[in-house]
Amino acid sequence: MKTQIVVVGGGAGGLQLVRLLGARFGRDDYDVILVERNHTHIWKPLLHEVATGSLDANLDEVGYRSHGHRWNYRFFYGSLESVDRQAQEVVIAPIHDEDGTELISRHRIRYDYLVLAFGGMSNDFGIEGVKDHCLFLDNREQADRFRQKLLNNCLRVSRGLAADPHAEAYVKVAIVGAGATGVELAAELFNAAAGLRHYGLEVFDEARLQVTLIEAGPRILPALPDGIAASARRELELLGVKVMTSTQIARVTEQGLVTKSGDVIEADLKLWAAGVKGTDVAEHLGDFEITPTRQIKVLPTLQTTIDERIFAIGDCAYYKREGEARPVPPRAQSAAQMALTAYKNIVAMTTGKPLKPFTYRDYGSLVSLSRFSTVGSLMGNLVGGRMAVEGRIARLVYLSLYRKRQ
Ligand SMILES: Cc1cc2nc3c(=O)[nH]c(=O)nc-3n(C[C@H](O)[C@H](O)[C@H](O)COP(=O)(O)OP(=O)(O)OC[C@H]3O[C@@H](n4cnc5c(N)ncnc54)[C@H](O)[C@@H]3O)c2cc1C
Repeated sequence: MKTQIVVVGGGAGGLQLVRLLGARFGRDDYDVILVERNHTHIWKPLLHEVATGSLDANLDEVGYRSHGHRWNYRFFYGSLESVDRQAQEVVIAPIHDEDGTELISRHRIRYDYLVLAFGGMSNDFGIEGVKDHCLFLDNREQADRFRQKLLNNCLRVSRGLAADPHAEAYVKVAIVGAGATGVELAAELFNAAAGLRHYGLEVFDEARLQVTLIEAGPRILPALPDGIAASARRELELLGVKVMTSTQIARVTEQGLVTKSGDVIEADLKLWAAGVKGTDVAEHLGDFEITPTRQIKVLPTLQTTIDERIFAIGDCAYYKREGEARPVPPRAQSAAQMALTAYKNIVAMTTGKPLKPFTYRDYGSLVSLSRFSTVGSLMGNLVGGRMAVEGRIARLVYLSLYRKRQ
């Protein structure tokens, strides 16, 4: 019987991992299997561009079947329900077609090694009304939904202006959370709005857009140095974004957001991008040790605390190195680095070698303010520590990293 290595989730971490495992093990004595609930992969950091319509996701996504054929892994379409550790099997939920007819009933896949890489989702912190009235950007469907609602609202305003050019008509967008997602989306909205007049909305332009970016912390982009965050804020304000820091949202209604101090921020579209937590599946997975934010606790080797044959990587994993103040952040570069460590440790287990601990290295972050600017910081030996970058150089680095990823 072949040794089966099963990876659940083909995102930033899982996709990299199956590529490495497939290239190393091939299909002779091993079976590398990716279980994923979508047919195609789109890189999450691009979702804000999908949401504004600046990027056609169909052109940028990767089909798992062809990718698997190229890199020697098998793709199983399905959604993980739970893990049966005694039987060493994952349980996959029944698969239905669009009409709800069951195509494949609940089934099981055997594993010798299992890697959980099913990511996370936005954290609503249990705040009243968020789930019901906010949009999120956790996956392609949500990004498509945002784009549709944005276009509908632009159309509404455009029709109003066609009837009365002096009407006080605006599309109001409120974004909660001024991390990379919130900041990039705010800038991208102005780029998209400027382009709409070429696509039939002739009387609509960026002046009809009112964007408010709300952050509970004292400044935007908390992961970046102060100076860089201040530059980004200046750029956003020049575009017309209203930036509100030290502002906590207490409640969300259909009309808008209510702050802790009782102010109401009216909005047609409310986007929640204020933090990350584990997905629902983590809670029903089995007897794994999970944190209050539903992430699976892992050892320094990235093996789960209760089973050495099961690893967890990326946003669904929780790892805080001894002596560090914070856990590894939920970022694409963390997921990719964890994938590499998990790969090396699985190879070590199959060859009877000792496993290595995971070390997270922050290579810096770049935040794209659409075509208007790019800001960020690069870390590492090449630049001699931490270097703040802005403008054209930052844009070039951003674009080259994007091409590399593609
Ligand atoms: C809009 C946005 C912008 C971002 N920008 C940046 C950025 O600029 N820089 C940065 O470093 N990070 C960024 N991030 C964070 C980054 O995208 C994540 O940290 C990273 O994708 C995590 O990788 P992952 O492999 O753990 O999970 P993901 O990439 O989320 O992949 C998880 C995969 O698991 C699949 N899955 C989920 N549940 C199941 C299930 N039950 N069964 C089967 N499959 C399942 C999903 O379909 C998905 O394909 C951004 C995130 C968002 C949402």
